[in-house]
Amino acid sequence: MVWLLRRCQSCGTYTLHEDKCPKCNGNVISPHPAKFSMEDKYRKYRLIMKRTAEKEV
Ligand SMILES: [Zn+2]
Repeated sequence: MVWLLRRCQSCGTYTLHEDKCPKCNGNVISPHPAKFSMEDKYRKYRLIMKRTAEKEV
């Protein structure tokens, strides 16, 4: 259920509100999918780097 949570960019409160923070009306984001996609991107990049290094050696 963690992936349903949004996190306020202003005060860092976790909320189920999709539009704004109930505490401070700040902007809310869903950090978890972004983090996973970042890890996938780095994993793919690392694989490309490894292949490139093997070619050069
Ligand atoms: Zn807030």
